[in-house]
Amino acid sequence: MARTTPPRPVDVEALFPEVAAFRKVAVRLHPRIGAPSARDSSLGGPVLWPRSHPWPYCEDDHPRTAYSPPGTGPIPLVPVLQLFAGDVSELVFPDGTDVLQVLWCPFDHAQGYVPRPELFWWDSSRRDVERANPPRPAGARDAYVPNPCVLHPERVTEYPDWDLPEDISDALESRFDQLEEDTPWSYWSHLSVSGGIKVGGYPTWTQEPNWPTCPACSRRMDHLLTINSAEFDGESWLTWLPVEDTPATGTIWDLPYEKRTQIQRPPGLMLGDMGGIYLFECARCPDRPFAYRSDCS
Ligand SMILES: [Zn+2]
Ligand SMILES: [Zn+2]
Repeated sequence: MARTTPPRPVDVEALFPEVAAFRKVAVRLHPRIGAPSARDSSLGGPVLWPRSHPWPYCEDDHPRTAYSPPGTGPIPLVPVLQLFAGDVSELVFPDGTDVLQVLWCPFDHAQGYVPRPELFWWDSSRRDVERANPPRPAGARDAYVPNPCVLHPERVTEYPDWDLPEDISDALESRFDQLEEDTPWSYWSHLSVSGGIKVGGYPTWTQEPNWPTCPACSRRMDHLLTINSAEFDGESWLTWLPVEDTPATGTIWDLPYEKRTQIQRPPGLMLGDMGGIYLFECARCPDRPFAYRSDCS
């Protein structure tokens, strides 16, 4: 079943023409519990891997937290996201590749006290790729190891929230307030940035933006994708909950906890307190420098 974000309840660019220049397309991935194969785009599903490359391990020192590895020694990364070019054509794949993978080490790291992600780009037609079968790291907690989910990519339009330039945000403030008085809609919660797991668009910052700079060319890196704990929260569900997941009677909050969780947090991830991990890259530089940030509410 496809997932469809309802149309914005108001014409954002007619009400706030100032934000039109900042419009971006995001591809919401809408993960839902399923049984993807290694040849499918998936979250937490099996991934392809070339036999000639050893599976990657993390050798970082990990801080002591509730999410520390139980012992010492290298930790096998776990598959988090696999995206084929055919499913997310907005991604700019390096020449000769057609599959992007995000793997991470499922323990807290000094940067952000979240898992540390790594990116891999492969050519899925090479002859030595096969379904990887990495061991689950001992002591890894479910909050950092996603449940296998199939994806339902959908394009939506986003406008910046935290990334709206301050002068524009100031100029619009009274009109945003007026909208909130006249309607149930808040620009920030209901019209600007989608939550959940998505490619492109704006990072779902919950604090001041913290864009990384490319170490090679010194320009601001581009947002590649975001992995959030939840698809929506107690405010944003009003406009970002897919039509197909909207109960026929009552609201999403009337559903039993288990049922709601399968819609709000299907992968079962909990990054900080309902936080997210934002992945960035510089596509201008030949070796595609990569960085990540995280925050939580
Ligand atoms: Zn690690
Ligand atoms: Zn660069």
